[in-house]
Amino acid sequence: MTRRKLNGYLDHLRENLEILDEGIANARKMVKAGKNADSRTALQWTKTVRDLVELRGTNLTNIKMHLLGRDETGAAKEPPGIYGHNDQIEFERYFKNQVSAWTQDDLKLQCEDCGIKSEAVSNRCFSHPYPKPDEYYDLCGKCFDKRVTKSNRESKDWGVGEPASKGEVRAMIRGAAQIIKILRTLPIDQRIAKLEELLANKPEVAPGMEPACDAYRGVLQKELDNAKRLM
Ligand SMILES: [Zn+2]
Repeated sequence: MTRRKLNGYLDHLRENLEILDEGIANARKMVKAGKNADSRTALQWTKTVRDLVELRGTNLTNIKMHLLGRDETGAAKEPPGIYGHNDQIEFERYFKNQVSAWTQDDLKLQCEDCGIKSEAVSNRCFSHPYPKPDEYYDLCGKCFDKRVTKSNRESKDWGVGEPASKGEVRAMIRGAAQIIKILRTLPIDQRIAKLEELLANKPEVAPGMEPACDAYRGVLQKELDNAKRLM
């Protein structure tokens, strides 16, 4: 077996792994050969295989720790979702990716919607009001815009189902009446200016709250019309 020049801690661990693999393969051969000879030799080699496999596991763990680092409790930090199915295979894949040379292609992500592979694709977050968790997708610019448009439409549809209650409308009108009460203490020209200012300010209205907001503005508008007549 030809060996590359050793290069750092990780490469030493990789070499350990290769040596262990050879050792395990040899020991397995000896187990087979021993079975034909006598059972004590076979048993001895079986124990050797077990020890080597255990050592290999420890070696893999060391590589894993080195690649991933540890958290404050000393446990290896594992990227979420990587070791969900088959720990060893997933880990070795990840390890192989780490030691293989990077190419320009590695910088390209695949869009989850249209499937295009490009550097323009990035992981985008869609945040939702509590308690719905945020969602993350790898998307190109076009598909991102599409999803944003779609989710805006859906949140509007969602809002339609919750119109302002009568109580909310009454509260808004009461609020307007209180403002008017205060404004009536002002000279008429200042009162008109203040009312015009309030009406010019059109805040974004929560879906379903439009009737309450319209009622509120209606009250202020009526007061403004009256004040103008008094001028
Ligand atoms: Zn796309």
